[in-house]
Amino acid sequence: MRKTLVIAFGGNALLQAGEKGTAAEQWANVSRTCKALVPLIKQGHNIVIGHGNGPQVGNELLRQSAGKSQYGLEEMPMDFCVAETQGSIGYMIELALLNEGIDRQVVTLLSPVVVDEDDKAFQNPTKPVGPYYKEKQEGFKEDPKGNGWRKVVASPAPKQILHSELIKQLSSTGTIVITVGGGGIPVVVQSDGKYKSVEAVIDKDLASALLAQEIGADELYILTDVPNACINFRQENEQVLNGITLEQAKKYLDEGHFKEGSMAPKIRAAIKFASGVNRRSIITTAANLDGGTRIANNEYSTDTDVS
Ligand code: ADP
Ligand code: MG
Repeated sequence: MRKTLVIAFGGNALLQAGEKGTAAEQWANVSRTCKALVPLIKQGHNIVIGHGNGPQVGNELLRQSAGKSQYGLEEMPMDFCVAETQGSIGYMIELALLNEGIDRQVVTLLSPVVVDEDDKAFQNPTKPVGPYYKEKQEGFKEDPKGNGWRKVVASPAPKQILHSELIKQLSSTGTIVITVGGGGIPVVVQSDGKYKSVEAVIDKDLASALLAQEIGADELYILTDVPNACINFRQENEQVLNGITLEQAKKYLDEGHFKEGSMAPKIRAAIKFASGVNRRSIITTAANLDGGTRIANNEYSTDTDVS
């Protein structure tokens, strides 16, 4: 059966630990991840791809800062930097998929994502971005590892994917759409109805989960660098999670089995999406698409399994 899949690429799909982030390294990683998707693509499913941009946007912010201090260039704001990484990363994924010889059109859509101006996250910014500075400035926090001071921005919840209707239409005709890169470009809707960018970072797994809901997807794949989520992670009694129910996932999350900033947001995104009727979330690596940690309602109909 033809399904609609949203596949969120983690950081590892673009850069691996210890790499510098050269263009050649990024091409190699993107190509490896895209190659792994070919069997799924050949099954004929509608496919939408989301991706992270942490190291890439971090480097872009550093370039802005260096450009200002060395050449007196005006620094461009974060929304420009996110848009640039959506474009460059999307372009790599497009070419890498086309080079696998798949019989599909592939397109990247830059993706503004609406957040709520009153989101509580704006009162307590937590996400460090950009270069380290020696001295404290307004809106900065000290790095716990002693590297200096860094700007922190809010991480508000995504409320609406601006282009979801268009993404749905394109993907239903078989076009592979790459979008919500880096969680999207955060914008708020002002009282006059106009959009305005805000300095913030949206969690890319939550944005992918919202997109999957909005386009009525059947499955959300969250691809990362571990084949499964575990309970008692890295302890003697560690246990790999395969198929689990929503209730189990919520219980393990409440018990603190998943680390904040890494696995916990993925589990939250997986739960958010799988809470809908007949929907399933899968957390795994690109090399393990038939396995992984699968979270579903009891009603998830097994006759539509990809296997
Ligand atoms: P990505 O960059 O791919 O989006 P992260 O690096 O943020 O992903 O999160 C994946 C990491 O989460 C794994 O490499 C692992 O070290 C960590 N992690 C934390 N808690 C768990 C857990 N309970 N089970 C498995 N992995 C976990
Ligand atoms: Mg990572």
